[in-house]
Amino acid sequence: MMTEAVVELDDELWQSVYEITAGAMNPCYQCGTCTASCPFLSYLDRPLSARKILRRAQLGRGDGMEDIWMCSACRSCEVRCPRDVHIVEAIMGLRSLAFKARAVPPEMNRLLWSTLEEGNPWNDPRSERARWADGLKVRDAAEGVDVLLYVGCAGSYDPRLQGVARGLVQVLGRAGVNVGILGGRERCCGDAVRVTGERGYLQRLVEKNVKAFSGTGATTIVAISPHCFDMFRNLYPRYGLEAEVLHYTEYLEHMLDEGVLKPPRVKNSRVAYHDPCYLGRSNGIFEPPRRLLESVPGLELEELRDNRLNALCCGGGGGGMWREEGGERLSDKRVEQVKEADIPLLATSCPYCIQNFEDSTRRMGGPRVVDVMELLARPKAV
Ligand code: SF4
Ligand code: SF4
Repeated sequence: MMTEAVVELDDELWQSVYEITAGAMNPCYQCGTCTASCPFLSYLDRPLSARKILRRAQLGRGDGMEDIWMCSACRSCEVRCPRDVHIVEAIMGLRSLAFKARAVPPEMNRLLWSTLEEGNPWNDPRSERARWADGLKVRDAAEGVDVLLYVGCAGSYDPRLQGVARGLVQVLGRAGVNVGILGGRERCCGDAVRVTGERGYLQRLVEKNVKAFSGTGATTIVAISPHCFDMFRNLYPRYGLEAEVLHYTEYLEHMLDEGVLKPPRVKNSRVAYHDPCYLGRSNGIFEPPRRLLESVPGLELEELRDNRLNALCCGGGGGGMWREEGGERLSDKRVEQVKEADIPLLATSCPYCIQNFEDSTRRMGGPRVVDVMELLARPKAV
């Protein structure tokens, strides 16, 4: 005798899902293009199905939602969705619902507490946030500056990435830009909080940051990380941020156009550029980093198989930097592509991409990984 599975539908839960996702999943007609586009499935054969997540959300079902934590918010699915469904917004909304039910993976809880207590997701001491600038001539933004350089948590604490911030300060200073930093008063941009689903603290953090930024009088904010940049450009204006927000590659491209950026010669080399998801797919910034690379005498830029809108995610977004996962990673697959193309240098413009790729190349060998900034400021890095 056949038994039929009974699906319990819960009106109250449906209402909560609808409200917290602002109905983002409603236009979905279940074609499955998103699932087929997801790098976790196509590159790692892991069972992440945006279509199924959205279906369960449409029905107001709360079961089987563990896979919402696997998503790296890369938006490969969104750019292909024929119904323009805001898939990442729906998934982040579902994380908020899970957060309210205290159904959050332990690593997400840890990063939330670290951000609350120390102002950064790695739990590094708040008192050491400005160490990266020791011995560097850089103004305190409180003195009144035109440009506020927001360094970000990774750039402030990771010794490997501190050089990117230092190089940028030197390049801007040499060009006479009136730039300053918040130093020890800088706090996390909130991207790491958003991915945990905790909306109340996120809102308070964003409000504090908007106040701190506005207090400097800066009319332009330049962010190093695409994750901070994405927050400032797309979320902060809703909380009153009026300053223009640029990723550092955009700012340097303007300087190139004005003739005030003169990249130094580097050793002759072919270089591949990896588009960070939060810069490229999320914000359409594909050309500025390429133009910068092309401007460096000695470099020959080559495109990887998956580039621009089709770039392969490094796995770091959406909380991926803190996810505990074994086995092969997306960054391994990207490094494999560079190795197959036999390109010795892999440039990118995101601290998470750099950390993930370097983790892969340590295990697998392969290209030297650099930030675009390092090629402009410290040619010896090549
Ligand atoms: S691609 Fe868009 S319409 Fe198709 S299943 Fe995914 S979200 Fe739904
Ligand atoms: S945003 Fe990326 S990781 Fe998340 S479901 Fe879509 S394709 Fe998969």
